Amino acid sequence: MDRTIRLFDTDAYGTDFEATVLDTVPAPEGLALVLDRTFFFPEEGGQSPDTGTLAGYPVTDVQIRDEIITHTIRVPEQEREEAAARLSAGQRVRGCIDWERRFSNMQNHTGEHILSGLMHRLYGFDNVGFHLSDNNVTLDVNGQLDRGQLDELEREANRVVWRNVPVTAQYPAPEELAGLEYRSKKEIEGDVRIVTIEDVDCCACCAPHVSRTGEIGQIRIVRVQHEKSKMRLFIVCGARALSYAQHSLKEAEQISHLLNLPPEDIAAGTVKLKEEQQTQYFKMIGLQARYLTLRVREALSEAGSAPDVFLFEEELDRDRQREAVNLLCESLSGYGGIFAGTEEDGYFYIIGAGTAKAPGAENTAKPGDARRVNALLKERLNARGGGSAQMVQGSIRAPKEEILAALN
Ligand SMILES: [Zn+2]
Repeated sequence: MDRTIRLFDTDAYGTDFEATVLDTVPAPEGLALVLDRTFFFPEEGGQSPDTGTLAGYPVTDVQIRDEIITHTIRVPEQEREEAAARLSAGQRVRGCIDWERRFSNMQNHTGEHILSGLMHRLYGFDNVGFHLSDNNVTLDVNGQLDRGQLDELEREANRVVWRNVPVTAQYPAPEELAGLEYRSKKEIEGDVRIVTIEDVDCCACCAPHVSRTGEIGQIRIVRVQHEKSKMRLFIVCGARALSYAQHSLKEAEQISHLLNLPPEDIAAGTVKLKEEQQTQYFKMIGLQARYLTLRVREALSEAGSAPDVFLFEEELDRDRQREAVNLLCESLSGYGGIFAGTEEDGYFYIIGAGTAKAPGAENTAKPGDARRVNALLKERLNARGGGSAQMVQGSIRAPKEEILAALN
């Protein structure tokens, strides 16, 4: 089969086209068509494929192999046989790409060239990986830039947008190519398509780009992941930069409303809120400790000479819970424990072996082994936990009555 003519190579702005079907085969959700020519850019060079319609059916995937481009269309099962006959080899078919999505890809892809070209010029680093999907545009860099350098890079990239310089694509003759200095991620066989942004970048690339940099609108670096001697930049350009800014503004407005502060003060307001939260937390911990001390005393006096005491409380700070169990165990000859939580969400328990001597016993106390209590809860009620002879802890999801019955 002849290689597919890439109409987008010479015309990045064309959307509607007619083509001749060269091959049609069944695909999992419809049909897979090879055409003699297409405006559909396939999945290539880290960029996701174009979407749109072909013969009125949605195009769900476009792949290229050995320079032949295959379009997958979604066809309802009951129409498939008829559609396969109507779209068989030799038939004419009309296609149309989703222009809004494609243009956004062109803006982001060209923005990536500008950033990569400038990064190479300014800092000597290379783009070693590129990914453009509906959710993310990322570029991987074989070096690290600090915040100030990234701000400078972003500013310079946007100056290129404002200068509105031409972006051109050509297939230079081999002798011309040999004398050309251009960025390329890999060795390319056959014709090399060179994309040039005046005074900024020269790069081997197969994708559609905008014709002048002004069409990009804006280039933003919105997130950076640093990793050893590399970094990954998340960028948004053009329509995506606008959506990103609109979303960020909405988020800021909501926070501003919640904090009852003007948008420019929300960071300082959040710091204050965090500090207040911290103060409240320490106050709560202090109150919890006082409450538990009183609760332990009350329970001990209610228990009289009983060897074991088990309390059920709402969610507690773990350290306060442990302190209270220690306090309990000082006065018990059996076991003391606190179950913190609820029946619905389960309990976190801490159980200790009492260190007081049993009433009427010899002079010294003989503490038990808390692990035995833990084993019992595990066996009867599927508890999960462990610890030492002195103290065990774990979680359990069972009604209070069943836990108490097991402990008895
Ligand atoms: Zn490109």
